[in-house]
Amino acid sequence: MHTKYQKKVDVEKTQAYLVGGGIASLSAAVYLITDGHVPGRNIHILEQSNITGGSMDAGGNPDTGYIFRGGRMFDEEAYQCIFGVMERIPSLTDPHITIMDEFRAFNKKIHTLAKARLIDNEANIIESSKLGFNSQDRLALMDVIIKPEEYFGTKTVQECFPESFFQTNFWFQWTTSFAFEPWHSVVEFKRYLHRFMHELPKVSDFSGVRRTPYNQYHSIILPITEWLKAQGVDFQYGCAVSSLDFKPAEDKKTVTGIHCNRDGNEERIAVEEEDFVFVTIGSITAGSSLGSTTTVPTINDKHVGGDWALWESIAKQSPEFGKPQVFNEHVKDSLFESFTVTLKDPTMFKRIVEFSGNEPGTGSLMTFKESGWFMSICLHNQPHMLNQPDDVQVLWGYCLFPYKEGDFVKKRMIDCTGEEILTELLHHLKFDEDKEKILNTSIVIPCIMPFATSQFLPRSKGDRPQVIPECSTNLAFLGQFCEITDDVVFTVDYSARSAQTAVYKFLGLDKEVTPIYKGQHDIRVLFNSAMAMMKDDSLRQEIGFLKTTMLK
Ligand SMILES: Cc1cc2nc3c(=O)[nH]c(=O)nc-3n(C[C@H](O)[C@H](O)[C@H](O)COP(=O)(O)OP(=O)(O)OC[C@H]3O[C@@H](n4cnc5c(N)ncnc54)[C@H](O)[C@@H]3O)c2cc1C
Repeated sequence: MHTKYQKKVDVEKTQAYLVGGGIASLSAAVYLITDGHVPGRNIHILEQSNITGGSMDAGGNPDTGYIFRGGRMFDEEAYQCIFGVMERIPSLTDPHITIMDEFRAFNKKIHTLAKARLIDNEANIIESSKLGFNSQDRLALMDVIIKPEEYFGTKTVQECFPESFFQTNFWFQWTTSFAFEPWHSVVEFKRYLHRFMHELPKVSDFSGVRRTPYNQYHSIILPITEWLKAQGVDFQYGCAVSSLDFKPAEDKKTVTGIHCNRDGNEERIAVEEEDFVFVTIGSITAGSSLGSTTTVPTINDKHVGGDWALWESIAKQSPEFGKPQVFNEHVKDSLFESFTVTLKDPTMFKRIVEFSGNEPGTGSLMTFKESGWFMSICLHNQPHMLNQPDDVQVLWGYCLFPYKEGDFVKKRMIDCTGEEILTELLHHLKFDEDKEKILNTSIVIPCIMPFATSQFLPRSKGDRPQVIPECSTNLAFLGQFCEITDDVVFTVDYSARSAQTAVYKFLGLDKEVTPIYKGQHDIRVLFNSAMAMMKDDSLRQEIGFLKTTMLK
């Protein structure tokens, strides 16, 4: 194979070093094997922790409590890249079907149709299907949708919208679905409006949301890891990469060595010119810390873990390698906190089902829109963990304003134990009479992620490196902090697409990278979204009329 990057790729000899064991690296390994025909034994995954999955990990047991740092929502249209990966991986329980078949079968059975999307501070479910825009909000929204990214530069969402916009049902629902804060980049917000425009009419009932049968570690990461192991891929755990060596040259950058630390021992892996190095730079779960029912998690900075240090060291080699400090020096603006509750008594689950009108797995997020911490919770279909007994349930929640004081527990969320967080939630639900029973039978594990939304921070062109920078001959950047035109970060799809782009380019494969779904170019999507924006407005009738006449 001949490529732009190398004269000849002999896949039998070429070694691929993948730094990081998250979904980006795992996807790269899948593409290298299935499309590139690189033997599994030539692929080396160097992961600092002792499991794969990165941000998509999950674990625990009913005795010490379950923990998953995040829960991923998918939809049919916008996740084509990761679905393409899932279509290649056999199920752990039935080798004749893929994990994508399992995903489809599950979503055929369990439909999301949220009946309690927004809740006020008196525990009333609010009618939220009207998005609540006034004409100024609509104009600002159209402006952001239509004007090019260059026009907005490093502007924030709050710089581009009137105050009233942040009190609309749209904002409460959109921001909690995707974890946007008012101080985040309006360019990222704009990309989301494009990418998920088809979800706008469904933002209040989540009917477009698709889920994995179990948490994403058990439904996606574990089967991929097992399949890669069966292909002979070399997994090296406990291997923290600290820096790369480059060939001395003025313009081109070629990696010649990888420095890593294994159990306190420094090592150097020699990299030949015909080998490839794929580095997942930064991590949205870097430095995350777990508390417990009785203890508070700590807030770490960028120095904890090797995620940022590695990118910082690589970035010194070339301006084309990006600026990690844009994303890792604003913890207060990028931190969010989640919590996983393990319930050994069914009372709380039963009461939430009664309260919301949704069976577990059908309601998606419930947001306490007036809560100080801006709290949302989610009851997944049970069991959510592979080793979960029938008489134990798990629920997950997160807060976008963890630096603010709670409404009942008069403390900032970041200063609270798991028990205090559950107490705040029980007050919002007004489950006061069952409070003691629930608290006595639950394990709550809070998780502080200092960089959870760092990928949404305002950035300029060049802050994120290209997947394969112009100057690079054998180094690619994967994950949430490389640049993919038009694509949206904080998604599994972004990481998978960075992997696909890198593998196809390096190997010179005559294959198209999975196209990004662009609903904003579909007239039906545009009309339906405009109708949702105008709900109960006289303009709506006019648009309805236009729709029926134009689409005839
Ligand atoms: C709370 C939460 C909710 C989310 N919700 C959604 C959602 O609804 N939909 C969606 O699509 N996505 C969602 N995501 C995002 C998605 O999970 C991530 O974007 C994706 O998993 C990132 O994968 P990655 O492989 O690029 O990086 P990571 O998962 O960050 O993996 C990086 C890996 O590299 C390792 N590593 C880092 N530095 C080094 C080093 N120096 N040496 C060795 N190893 C190293 C890390 O230990 C880690 O395992 C959510 C994430 C969170 C946290």
